[in-house]
Amino acid sequence: MAQANGAPQPGAAPSQLCVFKLVLLGSGSVGKSSLALRFVKDDFKSILPTVGCKDSFCRAQQWLKDLEKEFLPGEVVVMLVGNKVDLGEKREVTFEDGKEFAERQNLLFMETSAKLNHQVTEAFSAIARELLQREERKEGPMPPQGDARLALGRGPAGQAKCCAH
Ligand code: GDP
Ligand code: MG
Repeated sequence: MAQANGAPQPGAAPSQLCVFKLVLLGSGSVGKSSLALRFVKDDFKSILPTVGCKDSFCRAQQWLKDLEKEFLPGEVVVMLVGNKVDLGEKREVTFEDGKEFAERQNLLFMETSAKLNHQVTEAFSAIARELLQREERKEGPMPPQGDARLALGRGPAGQAKCCAH
């Protein structure tokens, strides 16, 4: 989930950085740290067993209820991520299950593999894009710059930070 923190003021210079908090929520061992490590350092470490799929999907639905208690509708961008798609033969939750749930709850949805670096950057980019679009809806359209605005801490500013455990 991601929330605005220091969003641009109306009329701000187009080059102004937008800063958002991004939190990875989910059961243990679903791959939160691995997604962050893959995205920030393009690295992957296999240490723990890779189990728990269906339970973690049910738990994700509970996480969402918890979030709804804390935030107003539309205050945060939430993406449901189905990680470890490389373990396809062991999957207990279908793509359709995830997509249907996400659509019902108005969440972004993506399936990823931190291991194979599949759709990881795309997932983070989709969240950033949605955050920018929401800011633009609030502040009025900004000059078109395509994905140049989605530096995600890897651009010249080089401010990527990761505190995942
Ligand atoms: P966290 O508890 O949610 O932070 O989960 P971790 O990132 O520590 O990952 C738990 C285990 O799952 C580790 O052994 C990872 O190597 C493994 N893992 C994470 N992502 C993937 C993935 O995309 N595919 C596979 N096969 N294993 C993964
Ligand atoms: Mg972790």
